[in-house]
Amino acid sequence: MFIVFIGPPGAGKGTQAQQLVDLLGIPHVSTGDLLRQAISDGTDLGKSASAYMQAGKLVPDELVLGIIGERLEDPALAKGCLFDGFPRNVDQAKALDGLLTARGTPLDMVLEIQVDSDELVRRLLARKRPDDTPETISHRLEVYTNETAPVLQHYADQGLLKTVDGQGTPEDVFQRIRQCVE
Ligand code: AMP
Repeated sequence: MFIVFIGPPGAGKGTQAQQLVDLLGIPHVSTGDLLRQAISDGTDLGKSASAYMQAGKLVPDELVLGIIGERLEDPALAKGCLFDGFPRNVDQAKALDGLLTARGTPLDMVLEIQVDSDELVRRLLARKRPDDTPETISHRLEVYTNETAPVLQHYADQGLLKTVDGQGTPEDVFQRIRQCVE
């Protein structure tokens, strides 16, 4: 099963994604984690990506699509995975559609977690990540509205989108996610 997990920064995607991959027994593919790993490994990719990430901007599509293309060659992903933090714009979504269709394994579902913006800022300021400063947070939320939210429409048009209420405890939210996938 190939699933895309979409939600604004601070929606609790990371925590929920981890539980969902455990439930479904599929690998977790987080472009944010892969990019942070590249930075800590000091690779060329990491060097190119780090300034964008520190500024809360999207890393250029060709870099992100390069990582995804490489990751999809792993036999562990033959039957499915959960994409987390990808696609972040409509061009990435179209590229993913192309990659998966060419393999004969189109997306099964897109799950959106919805949380209101005051709650998001509160949650983001409580985390301790270097890219969670007030300026970067507001920029990341803006990028989400301008670039990532249109991805939801792209998938709604394909009849793949399911929206889950992300307010409440992590357990409440996971119960709702579970109902969508089962
Ligand atoms: P995340 O861990 O998903 O919140 O991602 C952290 C940062 O990594 C983002 O603010 C972007 O700078 C970068 N990033 C992660 N995924 C993508 C993507 N699919 N496209 C572009 N940039 C990304």
